Amino acid sequence: MPFEVTILGSSSATPTSDRYPTAQVINARGRYFLTDCGEGTQIQLRRQKIGFGKIRHIFISHLHGDHFYGLIGIISSFNLLGIKNDIHIYSHSQLKELIQPLVDLLKKDLQFKLIFHPLNFKKPEKIYIDKEVEVISFPLKHSIPCCGFLFRELPKERNILKESIEYYKIPISKIKEIKKGADYVTDDGRTIPNDEITTSPPSPGSYAFCSDTAYYPKIVEIIKNVDILYHEATFTEEFREWAKNTFHSTALEAAKIAKAAKVKKLIIGHFSARYKTVDNFVEEAKTVFNDTEAGIDGLTIKIRQ
Ligand SMILES: [Zn+2]
Repeated sequence: MPFEVTILGSSSATPTSDRYPTAQVINARGRYFLTDCGEGTQIQLRRQKIGFGKIRHIFISHLHGDHFYGLIGIISSFNLLGIKNDIHIYSHSQLKELIQPLVDLLKKDLQFKLIFHPLNFKKPEKIYIDKEVEVISFPLKHSIPCCGFLFRELPKERNILKESIEYYKIPISKIKEIKKGADYVTDDGRTIPNDEITTSPPSPGSYAFCSDTAYYPKIVEIIKNVDILYHEATFTEEFREWAKNTFHSTALEAAKIAKAAKVKKLIIGHFSARYKTVDNFVEEAKTVFNDTEAGIDGLTIKIRQ
């Protein structure tokens, strides 16, 4: 099962002829997390051949229209397609009151439950966990309350060596605790250190989604060492003042955050419609952080093997 992200929209504020507003799908080992849902998200899902029925969890960073105006369209389509599983929406609590009147228009036929989970805009919070993956929200610095999301695999168990099981005749009843890191004590009382009979699992993969935000070094701590950081870069340095006034970042600022957080790779997006191409953004970011790529619509990037 892959751990990857597909960019559905990379435009800020308004769509352009080749860029939709913000939306991404994170496929975390078979779980499909839709993150932001700008207008046209469902069209982009179709283009990427991502089945609507796979989406159970939708994360909305903040209530600017270019990040959630696609929501009612996709809810309506879920219903028309006969989807019956619950849909969880993680967002500002106000979203429910905004969207409920529209949902009520479909209500007669609504075949699934919409479950709203309010985000905490004051401090990081674990908002989702299952046996393999967790999602943590964390506050960003924008003109209205806004959260980023960290998608992270949970640490895996240690791999026990087959030869060790045979050599020490380790009973099945002990294997579970050894995989969790326990040493093995033989029948005659000898202690075999865990690292002699197991190997380390791969470190957990991680992806951080930093939606709209001004330059905000406070997030570095929480996104430290992630495999891939998505960070908005609405403007280039030429419009740094404009970026500051609208609580957005420049490509250079996104790169500074990536460098400080020692991430493996930076993806930038949320490009202002005033730019015809995204080359200048990438060039600017690369002066500080070389492994930068433009998160253009339709791009899928592996987070981990
Ligand atoms: Zn915004």
